Amino acid sequence: MAIGILGGGLAGITIAAHLEQECEVLEKESRGGGHCQTVQEHGFTYDAGGPHIIFSRNQEMVDYMVALLGDNVHRARRNNKIFYQGRYVKYPFENGLYDLDPQDRFECLYHYIKNDYPPPQTNFKEWIYHHFGKGLAEKYLIPYNEKIWNVPAEELGLEWVEGRVPKPPLEDVIKAAVGVETEGYTHQLYYNYPARGGIESLPQALAKCVRKITPDFGVGRIWKEGGQWCVSNGRATRRYDKLVSTIPIQELAHSLAGTPPEILAAVDSLRYNSLVTVAVGLDAARLPDYTAIYVPDPSVRFHRLSFPAVFSPHNAPPGKSIIEAEITTNPGDGTHEMSDAEILADVAGDLEDMDLIRRSEVCYGRVLRTKYGYVVQDDNHRKHLKQAKAYFEQIGIALCGRVAEFEYINMDVCIERGRKVAQTLSSCERLEEQPV
Ligand SMILES: Cc1cc2nc3c(=O)[nH]c(=O)nc-3n(C[C@H](O)[C@H](O)[C@H](O)COP(=O)(O)OP(=O)(O)OC[C@H]3O[C@@H](n4cnc5c(N)ncnc54)[C@H](O)[C@@H]3O)c2cc1C
Repeated sequence: MAIGILGGGLAGITIAAHLEQECEVLEKESRGGGHCQTVQEHGFTYDAGGPHIIFSRNQEMVDYMVALLGDNVHRARRNNKIFYQGRYVKYPFENGLYDLDPQDRFECLYHYIKNDYPPPQTNFKEWIYHHFGKGLAEKYLIPYNEKIWNVPAEELGLEWVEGRVPKPPLEDVIKAAVGVETEGYTHQLYYNYPARGGIESLPQALAKCVRKITPDFGVGRIWKEGGQWCVSNGRATRRYDKLVSTIPIQELAHSLAGTPPEILAAVDSLRYNSLVTVAVGLDAARLPDYTAIYVPDPSVRFHRLSFPAVFSPHNAPPGKSIIEAEITTNPGDGTHEMSDAEILADVAGDLEDMDLIRRSEVCYGRVLRTKYGYVVQDDNHRKHLKQAKAYFEQIGIALCGRVAEFEYINMDVCIERGRKVAQTLSSCERLEEQPV
């Protein structure tokens, strides 16, 4: 086999779908999709690794993803809220100031305008204070980000922030404070989502162009022999001329024979958050038409709620509704150690306190865990990642995707980079085939 692709998530499937050469995708789970897997149970459909909407700053990528889905697309306008002090505030927070009580509104606006914080030197906390001022920082941005990242904001670096957290124009913040409608994060104001089958329909559409995806093949050992890459799961061994990895960079480093200790140390120092998603189905169609609710309150375990049947009406049976809660967690933080039943009860309690559900209406519940949820881009991230990537490049293993490149990237970028990797590998082969 010419090319081996480790991992059958979106990145791996994209590469395979665009390669000219023969290739095989090795996936450890019983089906591909990775972060983009969808659960379909008891008439409910929801994304296992947290809600996934199709959006991008790059319109070509939106068009490409939508075209892949054919007519299986539901387009909708975002209707997100932030649950703050018992109020539902329009998202993003700086565009929803009019929903706050007058004192909070004043503090956000005043400190946004009269902001003496110096430009950020090293960390995300400084960045937030400098760009948004004390009011917005302390009421929403810092508590919410510390919940989702599960680390103090001063431990987060700056490299991922620009573009991800846009700074609103002063005019918009003033308009928002006096009650004139404005919109932030406009690149995701309208989004697409598969009408049926959840986000997994996207990798499935790509997988139709892939000849060989081998499930239940957990890569355990990789070594080089006779100029070929050998990959084993302990029971079978495959041989390839070239290797691309889309599996977590830590798993690649530890599976590969002879990885130097400093590279193992570098990948082991890369921080990430695991994700717990909790789906709660209701025997009643009682939920609001919000797309998602952000919850900065540190006393509530989940940081975000989403409503799969708003993404597509086919995601819940008639007369029923479903909520998905997301919790970031790490070993030792208490949540990680809770049983599924404990997490479900805790989430249901908070949903009832928010008046979103009645326990008597709960007809479905499931807790799912994703180990590599969010890449935490702390101070060390860039340095250690650069060192590890340089090593894999030197030995000739291409890395692609969110967990392999260990970057905070979305589906659009995974597909874009996957296509590029395929193009590079195909053109290398064409060059090698040319007579000298
Ligand atoms: C909570 C959350 C919400 C998100 N929301 C959005 C969104 O709204 N829009 C958007 O565009 N993007 C979103 N994303 C990002 C998106 O999920 C990722 O960018 C994308 O799915 C990553 O694909 P990947 O193939 O790089 O990684 P993965 O999906 O992680 O694929 C890696 C694959 O490798 C397999 N694997 C691991 N170890 C081994 C092994 N040893 N051997 C063989 N196989 C192995 C895994 O099972 C998996 O299938 C979100 C991500 C999260 C966490």
